[in-house]
Amino acid sequence: MIPGGESTTMSRLLQTFDLLDPLRKRIVDGMPAYGSCAGMILLAGEVLDGRPDQQQLGGLDVVVRRNAFGRQVDSFETDLPFSGLVDGPVRAVFIRAPWVESVGPGVEVLATVPERTVSGAHAGAAAGRAVAVRQGSVIATSFHPELTGDLRVHGLFCDLVKRTVMGTGTRS
Ligand code: GLN
Repeated sequence: MIPGGESTTMSRLLQTFDLLDPLRKRIVDGMPAYGSCAGMILLAGEVLDGRPDQQQLGGLDVVVRRNAFGRQVDSFETDLPFSGLVDGPVRAVFIRAPWVESVGPGVEVLATVPERTVSGAHAGAAAGRAVAVRQGSVIATSFHPELTGDLRVHGLFCDLVKRTVMGTGTRS
């Protein structure tokens, strides 16, 4: 699990504690990983609007744009239909979040920003942007499902872990 936070600081800490290459190798070898927000940024193959020295763990063949929705004051919540989850949309909390700018062929988009948020505001340039993706056993969300008490997204990740451990294969 790679949580939210500040991806540039997390990148520095990964370097300071010599964790960058070991984690990269584990992810390439198939270790399941889930990144939310800054975690998504770290798992992305490429980052736009990052710091030039910002390092990636990789694992997802996607390009993400850091702070894509704007500044801290532009943080917002909305309901998102989420592929693979039953029982209605997920309440998504976006805090200075990235969005996914483009995805490679092996990447499944699990959720996109709707035209209008629950407050009725038009999503503008954010409309239709991918905010949840999966590639094999690696999954990422731009938002923070841990803040709502809805455990379904984490449940999805637990299923990926179980399938990986049982060797039924999820890599695409
Ligand atoms: N904007 C932060 C970053 O670039 C991510 C914010 C978050 O994780 N909520 O890392």
